[in-house]
Amino acid sequence: MVEEKVGDVLTLDDRAWEQVVQATGGAAAPCYQCGVCTASCPWGLVKQEPISVRKLIHSAQLGVDGWGDALWLCTTCGLCEERCPRGVPITDVIRSLRGVSWRQRQEPAELRTLLWGVYWDSNPWGRPPSQRNQWASDLDLPRFSAEDEVLYYVGCTASYDRRMQKIARSLVTLFREAGVRFGTLGDDEPCCGESVASVGNREYAQEIIDRNAKLFENEGVATVVTTSPHCFEMFARRYPNLSGRFKPLHYTQYLSQLISQGRLSFDHELPMRVTYHDPCYLGRHSGVYDEPRRILEAIPGIELVEMDHNRAEALCCGGGGGRMWTETAAGERFADLRAIEAAETKAEALVTACSFCISCLDDSLKTSGMEMPVFDVSEVAVMALSAKPAEAEPVGAPV
Ligand code: SF4
Ligand code: SF4
Repeated sequence: MVEEKVGDVLTLDDRAWEQVVQATGGAAAPCYQCGVCTASCPWGLVKQEPISVRKLIHSAQLGVDGWGDALWLCTTCGLCEERCPRGVPITDVIRSLRGVSWRQRQEPAELRTLLWGVYWDSNPWGRPPSQRNQWASDLDLPRFSAEDEVLYYVGCTASYDRRMQKIARSLVTLFREAGVRFGTLGDDEPCCGESVASVGNREYAQEIIDRNAKLFENEGVATVVTTSPHCFEMFARRYPNLSGRFKPLHYTQYLSQLISQGRLSFDHELPMRVTYHDPCYLGRHSGVYDEPRRILEAIPGIELVEMDHNRAEALCCGGGGGRMWTETAAGERFADLRAIEAAETKAEALVTACSFCISCLDDSLKTSGMEMPVFDVSEVAVMALSAKPAEAEPVGAPV
């Protein structure tokens, strides 16, 4: 905290300076304060006062704290980073500043609940670990063995959320259709730690990473296919490759491979005009733009139309960076703007590849009275297998 200001002279708190400088490791140094990040941030579209991202980065350069709510609003969408002319890793700096806030006991209370959920139950939703595999109780899923082609890592949200369980079930259908030898870890599947890392609790996230990386090595995991782009980004960017064979893939990458190898194909027409929303953690953070589009384009009858903002310029749904666990006031939801963009394409359905995006976009479409269903890419692919367009079901509806 800045201790005092006498005339034009600031006296800095040495302890805070040390914590901030140590946490950010000089990552903010290249910033030359142009303000492009502040101008790019989608909070400027929904709030009178945008987040001053430039100021946050400046405080990291100076080693001063006292960031207030702005620090916790960031969805880590990465749009500012994408446009920063100096290549400052802005989202990593923001996560690091959040880490300092945790050490200073300044974190929002609801994020404490999130961390306790991961600690006790190995999922951020605080649901019983013994129910993790309940979604698959009728599917006779095999336990992963090292001889399998892939470990299917279901993830916490697709395991517990009733709407998102449909994505996991769709993926099982597609893997079986393509004859993939796969298994899951069932109730032993651990949380990947992404929610912990994204809210900046670096030490705890590292404990989870170390433990899971050893588990994957012991299980003989080579290719791991994830439902969520968040788990994928976590495995791909933040996990060590202990065995030298660890290869994380998002399911859109894997399905796209299966299609190009001729193992998965769609023979029947599915006449539907769709638009695709790029999830931030699949697109900007991981550079996966083509594969989900390739899957959709492999389905006869699908017409893919783009929204004004797509690929690296796509607008965030608002659910990343721990924002799924904090309240966003009505009128300040990015997904409301995205829903309008989707409706402007005159598509019959909005398709995406992330549970957080589905949840936020579906809420916005429903609350604004727009009758556009939101599907996951895998659900559209399953519809194409039987070529029967399914009815959209409300988020959270019982399966
Ligand atoms: S866009 Fe990059 S260089 Fe410009 S103020 Fe933001 S962090 Fe600094
Ligand atoms: S990552 Fe996204 S939400 Fe966070 S400061 Fe940058 S543009 Fe704003």
